[in-house]
Formats: sequence, structure tokens, C-alpha cells
Amino acid sequence: MSKPRRTLWQRWRGAWRRWSLWTLLVALVVAMLVTVVWLAGRYEASQVQSRLERDTSDAVSDVRVALTRNLQSLQALHADDPGILAWEVNASELLRGHRELVRLEWRDTGMRLRSQVQTPYRPVYWDRGTRESAHSDASLACANARRLSGPAYSSSYFQPHGDGLGSEMMELCLPITSGGRSTGFLVATYALNAMLEDLVGHSLTRSQEASFTEADGTRLAVLGAARRGSRMFTATHLLDLPGATLVLRMDTWHSAPSLFPNVLTALVTAMSIALVTVMVVLVRDNRRRLRAERDLGDALAFRKAMEDSLVTGLRARDLEGRITYVNPAFCDMVGFAPQELLGLSVSAPYWPPERVEEYQQRQAIRFAGYMPPREGFESEFMRKDGTRFPVLIIEAPLINAQGLHTGWMSAFLDISEQRRIEELSRASQERLQATARLATVGEMASLLSHELNQPLAAISSYATGSMNLLQAPAGAGEVPPPESLQDVRMAMQQIARQAERAGKVIKSVHDFVRRRDQAREAVTAQQLLDAIMPLVSLQARKIGVRVHTVMEPELPAALCDRTMVEQVLLNLARNAMQAMDVPGISKRVLEIRARRAASNAHQAWIEFSVADLGAGIEPDVAERLFTPFFTTRAEGMGLGLSLCRTVIEQHGGFLGFAANEPRGTVFTFTLPVYQPAPS
Ligand code: ADP
Repeated sequence: MSKPRRTLWQRWRGAWRRWSLWTLLVALVVAMLVTVVWLAGRYEASQVQSRLERDTSDAVSDVRVALTRNLQSLQALHADDPGILAWEVNASELLRGHRELVRLEWRDTGMRLRSQVQTPYRPVYWDRGTRESAHSDASLACANARRLSGPAYSSSYFQPHGDGLGSEMMELCLPITSGGRSTGFLVATYALNAMLEDLVGHSLTRSQEASFTEADGTRLAVLGAARRGSRMFTATHLLDLPGATLVLRMDTWHSAPSLFPNVLTALVTAMSIALVTVMVVLVRDNRRRLRAERDLGDALAFRKAMEDSLVTGLRARDLEGRITYVNPAFCDMVGFAPQELLGLSVSAPYWPPERVEEYQQRQAIRFAGYMPPREGFESEFMRKDGTRFPVLIIEAPLINAQGLHTGWMSAFLDISEQRRIEELSRASQERLQATARLATVGEMASLLSHELNQPLAAISSYATGSMNLLQAPAGAGEVPPPESLQDVRMAMQQIARQAERAGKVIKSVHDFVRRRDQAREAVTAQQLLDAIMPLVSLQARKIGVRVHTVMEPELPAALCDRTMVEQVLLNLARNAMQAMDVPGISKRVLEIRARRAASNAHQAWIEFSVADLGAGIEPDVAERLFTPFFTTRAEGMGLGLSLCRTVIEQHGGFLGFAANEPRGTVFTFTLPVYQPAPS
């Protein structure tokens, strides 16, 4: 069953599905990567933000602690009701140690200034009128302090320094009590700038900007790095003091628009890159696999087409003898469908029932590990309809890619047609041989008549002589004399002998022409020579050739078809004699030899040679010598040598020729020695 061809639409759909899946996968991975990087960035930002929040609250608590400590130092100024002078000394001392305090005033209960001390670090111009006004920040703070009976801060205000600059200040009013009675106020002025510089830890302001702001964000004092980055982080914290509230704000920047803000993000990014790389590799690998699959498909299709077009039947069996594969040619050969054959092991349906046992034995030998002959062996199979046919089986072990022996592969050739042709050619060869023999005899007819002439003439003259003897005496009715009768008897004996001689001549021809069954048998060289000698001598006598035979002693018998080899010998002998039957050749000797030839371990050979002293063979004749119907003689058929070679080759031998010494040609051929089967 052939697979339906995929339509263009199906192929397009397949490609679309594959591509859309890949696109989806890529989109998902990209989305995931973006999310992860974004989340890592966010995490990083939140880390920075929370660190900033922590720093801000640390800064606020720093400021608060410092202010409280300052409060105590300020209270200590009035601890033992000091005199003005002592107060000023102590206050100056205090201001020297606290740069954030720019001015200390001692006021009486009516807010009048009793004494004041200024910071030695930075001159500030104070307008006395404004400071003592009832609406000054100091007065407001003291009013608050009085109300709270404790320290109170004023809101911040801008104080010009007198040199064109100025700074933000804040007042602290501290009620002074003595023996439970209010005796005045201590007003301390804080510079917000200096507060940031001195009260907030330096580590906090090194990498971030700290500032005091108003609730609406207006900056009152700023300290710290003026660095700017792409991302700004801000944290604010309230510093609520009695009577006033300040906002401490801290800003920090991300120095660069970093893609990899920290290890985590870098790690995630690296992993993402690895993931993408793996994906690319996967895609490549997938593509390679697809290509390999396609190639494999092509190779399979090619193999299948090849197997389907084979005329050789193929069958594979596993090590248990189960049929695992048959090709269409095999199915056609035996007439069974693949389903009927696959999986069978014990006996196959194409085995002729009478040979099942023999085949099973053969199979057992194969599975025992004995290698079959490489050139194959012949066997007989049965078609589904019961007809038998000869097959040539070539078996080989199946070795898989890992080098393991997994079964047996067999190739089958139906050789019935070959057999039929062989039979035909054998029959026609036989007919041709017979014809050639008859032709030989035809050619020899004149010789025969010549040969028969002699005995017949002798018979006739003996007969005439006898009759004369019988009629000799003149007187009628007389009985011939006894000596005449003696002569007649002798003549009769001669007649009988001559008749027998003629009969022998005819028999020798008859024996030769008669078609005998083709069979190989053990024949000695002497037997072969004896068979052809009468016929050879006939011709030899006529043309004056001396026949010389040389036989190696104790020559073994040859295994051959006697009739055919006789024909070969006769042909060669006649050719040799014909070569010498030309005027000018005075020495006419035909030599027939038989001897042992070079042999090997498997086979011994006998060599026959037929040598003449003729004119030899010209090179252009030599080339076509064995071509059928090639002849140089007017009455020749040109079949002799080609048939001789066929016959000798059928026996496994070799026929050739060479120049003879001193002249002429020598034809040689070999025949296998008969080897009796060991008992
Ligand atoms: P035919 O004898 O009918 O001619 P052959 O096949 O026997 O056919 O011989 C073919 C030719 O080979 C002959 O015609 C002859 O020319 C040549 N030939 C064969 N034997 C010899 C030989 N012994 N010496 C010379 N020529 C030979």
C-alpha cells in the first residue's frame, strides 16, 4: 500500500503549526526573561528605597538624641544660679563645642535680654529690635514654653548674615526655674544647616543628600552629595519637636542607568542568556534532526523502491528462524502474501511437503552457526498452487549497526527459466553433435566406398574363381576333381574373411554414428583410441599418412562422455591429416599422445595431443579458428573445432593449439582423471 502524497495544503499546515509553536515558545521565553529582569530591577530599587528609609529614620533619631543632649547641656548652664559673667563664660564654652548652636540668650521673665553669647565660628547680624519684639520667633517659642512649662521650639525662619548670605534658623526656648519659680528663659538659636552637618552621622550623608524641608517640600537646609543619576530615590521622616515639626528628607541617586544593578540581576540575566543560548542550540538541533529525519526518509524510500523493483527475492529471518521480512519479488515467486509468511518459523508453506525434513535439518545447521557457501546453493520451492520450481539461495548473516549477529538474510533467484534454457541448449548441442557426426560420415563416404571396394572386389574375384573351378571340367555331369573342391573351399574361406572385413568397416562406421546415451564414465585413453582408429586408418591409408600413437604407461582412466570425446579425437586427427594432404609434404606422420598433465590437490588431468607435420596455421586463421562455420576448406563445415572446444569445456578441460616442431601444428586438450568415490 503506498502512502498518499501530502498535499500542498497539508504541508503548509504542518509548517505553520511548527513555526507557530516555535514562535509561541520564543515569545514566552522572551516575556519570562523581561519579567524576571524587571522584577530583579524592582527588587533592587526596593532594596535601595528601604535602605534609604532606614538611613532617614537613623538620621532623625540622631538629630533627636543630639537635641535632647543639647537641652541637658543648656539646662546645666543655669544649674546653680550662675552670675552673668560665669554664665557667659560657660555659654561661650558651650557654643564652641556645638557648632549647630549659633547664639544663646538669657532673658528674664519679661523677655528682656539679660545676656547673650554668639558662636565664634560664623558672624551673624542680629537685629535687636526684631529679636525682642513680642512677635519674634523667640517670643513665640517662649510663650509656648511657658504654656508647656518645658522647652519649646519655634518654626524655622530665614536669618540674613549681613554679608548678603543667610541661613535658616530655629529657636529653642527653655524656661529657667529656681526653687520652683520661673526666673527667666534661655533662648538658643539653632542653624539648620549646621544641625545637618554636625548632628547627622557623616556616614549617612556621604552618599546621599539630607535636607530639612517644609511640609510642602520647600528645602530649608541641604547637606550632602550633589551627584545626580538617572533614578532618584527619596525618603522623608518627620522630626516633631515640642512646638515645631521639621521634615527630614533624604535623596539618593543611582549612579548609572545600570542594566545589571546587582548580582541577582546579573545572575538572572546570565541565566536568561544561557536559557536563550540553550534554546538556540535546541532549535538548531531540532533543525538538524528534522534534516536527518528527512534524509532517513529519503534513504528509506530509496531502499524501498530498490527492494520493490528487485527481481531477486529477499527474506530475512531472526536468530529463532522467524521470518521478519520478505520483499515483493519473493512473494511473487512463491505466490504467498507477506502476512502469510511473516512470523512463521517451524516450516514455511513454500517448502515441498516431502522435503520439509531435509530443509529443517538445513535450517538447524544454519542456526547452529555454520556459514552457508558464498556462491549459494540450489534448492526446490513450491508455489502456492503446488507447482515446484528450482531456486538458487544465497544466504548471509545479518549484522546490525552494533556489530551483533541478529539473523540471516537470504536472496532467492528463480532458476527455472535458466534450467529450461540449459536443457534446450543441451538438446540442441546433442543434435548438432549428431549432425556433425553424420557430416563426418558423409565426408567419409567416398573413403568407405574405396575401403569396401577392396573386400568386395576380392569377394567377387574369389566367387568368380570358385565358379570357374566348379565349371572347369569339360564333361557334363562330371563331378569336379577333389583338388578343385579344395581350392573352392579356400576361396569360400577368403570370401567369408573378406565379407567379415567389409562388415567390420561398416560396423565401425555404424558404431560411431549410432547415438549413444550421454553419460560420463571412466574411459581409458586406449579405449578412446581403439574406437577411432579404424576410421582414422581408413583415411590415413588413402593419403599415405603414418599414424603413430604414444601412450604413457599406467595412465589412469578419464571421466568423460565417451562418444563426444571420440568425436573430438577423430575431428582433430582428420584435421591433422587434411593439413598434411597437400602436395609437397613428403613426410606425413600423425602422432597421437596421451599422458598425465599438471594436476592440483583436487583434480588430476590427462592430456591428449594430436600433432601433424602440415603447413601450420596462419595468424589470421588462428584468430578465427574456433568460430563456428569458419573453414578454409571448400567442402568443410567449419563446425569441428568449435564443437570440440565446447565438448572439452563441458568436461571442465581446456583445448588449445600450438606450433609443432619442426613444422605443423599440435592440438592439445585435457580431461579430468576418474576418481572412484571412496567407499
Ligand atoms: P572444417 O574441418 O570443417 O574446416 P574445423 O573447425 O575442423 O572445420 O577447422 C576449421 C579450420 O581450421 C580448417 O578449415 C583449417 O583451415 C584449420 N585447421 C584445423 N586444424 C588444422 C591443422 N591441424 N593444421 C592446419 N589448419 C588446421
